[in-house]
Amino acid sequence: MIGVTVLGSTGSIGVNTLDVLARHSDKYRAVALTANKDVAKMLEQCRACLPDYAVMADEAAAETLATELHQAGLDGITVLSGEAGLVQVASMPEADCVMAAIVGAAGLLPSLAAARAGKRILLANKEALVMSGKIFMDEVRNNNALLLPVDSEHNAIFQSMPADYAGDLTRSGVRQILLTASGGPFRSCDISELDAVTPEQACAHPNWVMGRKISVDSATMMNKGLEVIEACWLFNAEPSQIQVVIHPQSVIHSMVDYVDGSVLAQLGSPDMRTPIANALAWPERVEAGVNKLNLFDVARLDFEKPDFERFPCLRLAYEAMQQGGTASAILNAANEIAVDAFLNKHLKFTAIASVVEKTMQAVSSETVTSLEQVLAADAEARNIARALLQ
Ligand code: NAD
Ligand code: MG
Repeated sequence: MIGVTVLGSTGSIGVNTLDVLARHSDKYRAVALTANKDVAKMLEQCRACLPDYAVMADEAAAETLATELHQAGLDGITVLSGEAGLVQVASMPEADCVMAAIVGAAGLLPSLAAARAGKRILLANKEALVMSGKIFMDEVRNNNALLLPVDSEHNAIFQSMPADYAGDLTRSGVRQILLTASGGPFRSCDISELDAVTPEQACAHPNWVMGRKISVDSATMMNKGLEVIEACWLFNAEPSQIQVVIHPQSVIHSMVDYVDGSVLAQLGSPDMRTPIANALAWPERVEAGVNKLNLFDVARLDFEKPDFERFPCLRLAYEAMQQGGTASAILNAANEIAVDAFLNKHLKFTAIASVVEKTMQAVSSETVTSLEQVLAADAEARNIARALLQ
């Protein structure tokens, strides 16, 4: 049996991961589940999966969970809490494989712990790579970890790359990576309407059902910006080698353009169980419960150039990656604060980009030398962004 730790099991990716695991219970077992505060969902998942460990990041939630597991007669499940608990289950010997699906910077240390422990890492938590790409990739290499992308675009690029890709695009004959984007819910509305957009409207993604933070990121296209940075680290590419292509149907999940004129693409129904199952079983393939793509229903595929005026966050992400160093961590931190404020109705939708841009101007980027320095840049950017909200 292959033991799987699911970091962020109660979230959108986590739930889809447990669905795929349950289809192959002869092969995979969830050895640890983790969540922030959602005790009810964690209890339900514990009943269904019977993991060895259940971790709540929140201490009070961990106490409640322990009581409820005891009442349910599930004393065999050990409850852990806090960051230490997350790191423990990400690096323990029982976990052959770690699904990194915590949202935001909170996922960095547990994901990094999995890299240090040489795990097979299924990476959904793109913010970890955005914050500390160099450190993360070094830890993966130095500890013989295997990093497999779960983000649908990066999984599509991975599938469209040569199987023996060793980190040199030119040698592999790759001219460009074509990163597709749906354009989110505000792709074609009047730009003047964006000021008054509500969290509910921003979270109503046309093609995907996702957590609230990534839904807002998709609406501002910061998500695509974070994905450009993620792709640079995963495939050792320069930002100029990555072209964002708006493709509203979300059927092509990304493409690789080769020097001989071939363009390889991965297509499928928009369902995260495909990249999850691909990363889980690679190089094999397993059934994932996904509807077969019906090209006759799709009928047409459209493509557009992204508009930096409508989507300033995408421009800011390109700029952060071009600046290098801690700039991406600063961008990510400011974005997390601004998105949270928007979701809590303390900030206008269009002000998300302004908060990010002003924070990037206020905090100077440095060459990355250590994780402590990245965390300090993250903390400083959060303080500046919070002050900008006032
Ligand atoms: P979500 O909000 O639905 O779930 C987040 C999970 O993280 C939950 O289990 C939550 O309990 C946990 N969590 C939140 N804050 C935490 C904290 N401080 N400490 C510990 N755990 C915490 O998010 P999601 O949509 O599943 O996204 C998860 C990650 O996957 C994100 O990085 C996102 O960018 C990436 N991703 C998601 C999708 C998608 O379709 N949902 C697609 C591609 C990439
Ligand atoms: Mg994606």
